[in-house]
Amino acid sequence: MSETIFLLLIFGLPAAVGFKLAISRGKNPLLWGMLSGVFPFFLVVLHFHKPEKEIPGHFRKCGTCGRTFPWKDSVCKYCSTAVSNTETI
Ligand SMILES: [Zn+2]
Repeated sequence: MSETIFLLLIFGLPAAVGFKLAISRGKNPLLWGMLSGVFPFFLVVLHFHKPEKEIPGHFRKCGTCGRTFPWKDSVCKYCSTAVSNTETI
């Protein structure tokens, strides 16, 4: 009984975090959730990974320099180009 809870905490928690992170990075959430559950190191990889395409609600792609930055930013942090903030989620 308590072992089940223990296992859930050890593998389920990082898997759940990896699942959510993968969605926000445009990666396969099932694959990355599983990887994170087995090797929590993958959470770090996901955390520092910047997507190459725009992911609505999470990352914007700058039309000028082509880099991605957090969705909530209205100015590209690489080239200072203002992006239209018409869509808000
Ligand atoms: Zn830019």
